[in-house]
Amino acid sequence: MQDLIQPGIQKISIPAEPTTDYFLKDIFYENTAADYQKAMLSAIQVTEKFLENTKKPFSGISPPSLGELFGKVDFDKPLKNYRQLEEEINRLYVDHATAFHLPKYIAHLNCPVVIPALWAEVLISAINSSQDTWDQSAGGTLMERKLIDWTAEQIGYNYSADGVFTAGGSQSNLMGLLLARDNYANTHLRHNIKINGNPKEASKFRIFVSDKSHFSNQKNASLMGLGEQALVRIPTDPRFRMQVSALNHAIEKEMEFGNIPIAIVATAATTDFGNVDPLYEIGNIAHKYNLWLHVDAAYGCGLLLSDRYRHLLNGIEFSDSVTIDYHKSFFQPISSSAIIVRNKCSLDIIRHHADYLNPQEQDYEEHPAQINKTITQSTRRFDALKLWCTLRLMGREKLGSYIDKVIETTEQAAQVIESDPEFELLCHSDFSVLVFRYVPENISPEKVCDLNQKIKKTLFNSGEVLLACTKVNGKFYLKFTILNPITSMNDIREILESIRNHANKRNV
Ligand SMILES: *Cc1c(COP(=O)(O)O)cnc(C)c1O
Repeated sequence: MQDLIQPGIQKISIPAEPTTDYFLKDIFYENTAADYQKAMLSAIQVTEKFLENTKKPFSGISPPSLGELFGKVDFDKPLKNYRQLEEEINRLYVDHATAFHLPKYIAHLNCPVVIPALWAEVLISAINSSQDTWDQSAGGTLMERKLIDWTAEQIGYNYSADGVFTAGGSQSNLMGLLLARDNYANTHLRHNIKINGNPKEASKFRIFVSDKSHFSNQKNASLMGLGEQALVRIPTDPRFRMQVSALNHAIEKEMEFGNIPIAIVATAATTDFGNVDPLYEIGNIAHKYNLWLHVDAAYGCGLLLSDRYRHLLNGIEFSDSVTIDYHKSFFQPISSSAIIVRNKCSLDIIRHHADYLNPQEQDYEEHPAQINKTITQSTRRFDALKLWCTLRLMGREKLGSYIDKVIETTEQAAQVIESDPEFELLCHSDFSVLVFRYVPENISPEKVCDLNQKIKKTLFNSGEVLLACTKVNGKFYLKFTILNPITSMNDIREILESIRNHANKRNV
């Protein structure tokens, strides 16, 4: 054989092919199937014990106490086996993990997850398809596309619709706004933002959101180079939904100032109140002023599943794009989200080509590539498989009955809170959030916020109930987000009693 050594370069002896099992034992491949199975069983056991041993939503441990346990971890000294790993992971993580599946976890927008989706998770990470191109995913791409089509159909879009799975609602909202901005500049200013950056008119671009819209809109406006100043915050009605007349007025006023309205973001439903902006009326205004309408249904998308409550989203079909967070209200593990657009052509504007991945000349009808529709992800998990398995084994109707159940529990809880003289309910919810305060008799108004803050803190430290909090008009409120069909009225009554007891404890 020819000597390939170039002058001046020392000859390197090529090591013998490693043949020891030890060298490759941690790689997932045909020879390690038995090791894989053993490892997975160990992981399942840890998870089973988590279910068995976790009796309250949080252990109540403090960051310094948990942090202390981390000092001894040395990444240069690997553990010997899965038994040791189990012990360490339990101690540092599982024993203190927040348990979303328990009925007394009613804090944030975290749903319990369904088993078919967990089944899918095992395949997603092991087979590890990447959804950017056909040659890294094959069936994965077709499954994602079919789920996008199904979701579009639930929204009421027709065959022109398209979309893509994303990492979460914030990212889906970013895409909605970005499409609104770029399509505006393209059609009205003949300006290609993808190539040329924001046009000089960009400082005048205005996006209309309600003052209870999600804060990702602010972040996204900043990220897009428009700044938070581009957002016009529309006041809300007594149920904290966007006021349509105020929206109309604000658009007129911005135009008088010489600013350029480009989009409206309607929220269905709001993070704090679970109420849906009046989509139909907002759709009319978007149509009247020729504005892009993005519906942020990150949370409210679950209503699509329910025959009984689907009507709350009526009008969503008139939007240009919709954010769907399956991990908020489709009982899917994090992450699982999508942006759906009414007109697939609107996505063309964000397409970039890389010769090594999705060359310009490729026929994408023949070899579809979801990367043509993403803005911030190339390599991308096959999260869609979770939703696929969920729908195939459970069906829409069963998921919808979970949504019905949480809506009905929430309404009953609202009535209990409202009829209790020591509680003050701020407003009813279309979906499943209640904002309220504990206001015992004879308390002075300035002490109410302090008392509720202390209730929140002591409940969190005890870990027995996890609820959230928020501020409305500068006042502190407690908040229930009910997304667990297991949470019963009995749980709700016990939680309200816990609140009362903690409030009345000395030194609280
Ligand atoms: C949660 C939420 C988002 C953000 O979604 P992530 O998946 O957390 O990024 C956006 N909008 C609304 C209304 C939400 O409730």
